[in-house]
Amino acid sequence: MARMKGPTGDSHEGRPTDGVRLVNPDIARGSTVLFPDYAAFTAKTRPFSYGRGGTSTHDALAESVAALEEADHVVLAPSGLCAVTLALMSFAEAGSHILVTDSAYDPTRSFCDGVLRRMGVETTYYDPLIGGGLAELVRPETRAVLAESPGSLTFEVQDLPAIIAAAGEVPVIVDNTWSAGVHFKPLRMGAAVSVQAATKYLGGHSDLLMGTLACSAGAARLVERTARLIGISVAASDAALMHRGMRTLHRRLAVHEATGLALARWLEGREEIARVLHPALPSHPQHGVWARDFTGASGLFAAELARGDEAYIAAFCDALRLFGMGYSWGGYESLCIPTWPERNRTATQWKAKGRMLRLHAGLEDEEDLIADLDAAFARANAVPPQGKP
Ligand SMILES: *Cc1c(COP(=O)(O)O)cnc(C)c1O
Repeated sequence: MARMKGPTGDSHEGRPTDGVRLVNPDIARGSTVLFPDYAAFTAKTRPFSYGRGGTSTHDALAESVAALEEADHVVLAPSGLCAVTLALMSFAEAGSHILVTDSAYDPTRSFCDGVLRRMGVETTYYDPLIGGGLAELVRPETRAVLAESPGSLTFEVQDLPAIIAAAGEVPVIVDNTWSAGVHFKPLRMGAAVSVQAATKYLGGHSDLLMGTLACSAGAARLVERTARLIGISVAASDAALMHRGMRTLHRRLAVHEATGLALARWLEGREEIARVLHPALPSHPQHGVWARDFTGASGLFAAELARGDEAYIAAFCDALRLFGMGYSWGGYESLCIPTWPERNRTATQWKAKGRMLRLHAGLEDEEDLIADLDAAFARANAVPPQGKP
C-alpha cells in the first residue's frame, strides 16, 4: 500500500494515500498469512509470510519511527528493555566485551550482569563523562558500546561525538528515550543503533509497552536477523496504538519541555532543593554539550532535596496530589519518585547529601503542578529534622 511521507516524523508517515481511505492504516492482526498459489508460497522475497515478522500495521509504524530517527531500518520490540537487550545481543558474542555507561538504566545493567555474563560476555562500565577517554577501554574483542544520554536518573549528558570517535569501528548503541528521538539524532552522529523505550513519549499515554531499534544501514541486517532468530514480535493492536501516540508526539513534547523547564526553574529557587539536574538549565554541568547536540528537552529531570531524612521525604511524597508515584514516564500525567542512583554504580560514585527525586512534567497546568509541589513542601517542612541525612 502506498503511504504518505511527511517532513516531521510524526504526523503523516505511514498513512494510506490511495483511493477513498481512512485517515489511519488498518489494524492487520494475524498469525497465518495465506498465499494465493505455489509460486507465491515458494517465491524468494515475500512481503509478508507469517505474523511474527509483522504486518502492514507494523511496517507503517516502523516507517514513522524511521523518519523520526533518520534510520535505515527499524525493528520493533515488546518493551524498551527488550530493545536494549536485543541491540546488545545483536553484537555481543561469547568471549567478547562490551562497554556500558555507568549511568545506564538499571535493568540494562542487570541484563549485562545476569544474562550476558552467563553467556561469556564481559561488561565494563565506564564513566558517563569519559568522552574521548573511552578509547583506552576499547579492546580488540570489544563488540559494542552502550551510551544513554542523558542518564535517566542522574542526567549526565554524554559527549556522543567524542564517544563515537573513540569507539572507532566498534558500533555504538544509544538509549535515546529521553529525547524521544525528537531532540537528539544519534544516527546522524554515526551511532549504529538508537534505541527508545517507546513506552515513554512515543506512546505518551501510559497504556502500552514497546521498544524501537532505529538502525543505521550498517547495523540493520544484523539487528533484524537477531530479532527474527529470537522471535521478537509485538501485537498489531499495540503497534496501531503506538502509531496513534506518535501523531501528537512533537506537540506533546513541546508542552512537556515547557512545563518541565518551568518546574525545574521554580525548584531551583527553593531552599528545600540542593540542586536541580536539568540539561537545559545553564546550571547543569554538561549544559554546553546538551546545547551543542540537542535541539530541545523533554519533561524528565532530577532534583536533590536538601534534607535526606526518611520522615521528611515520606511526608513530601505522600502530600503530592497531582504528581503520581510510579515507574515509567512520558505519559500525560506528572510523576515524582524518590531514587537511589548511588546503588547502581560501579565505575563511578554518585554523591548526593539529600535524597534524589525524579520528576516527570505531564500535560497538567504548570500553575497547578507548582501549587502541588508548594503544598507538599509545606507539609514536609512541618516534619522536625531527625537522624542523619
Ligand atoms: C523505561 C526505560 C527503558 C525500558 O523501557 P520499558 O518499555 O519499560 O521496558 C529503557 N531505557 C530507559 C532510559 C528507560 O527510561
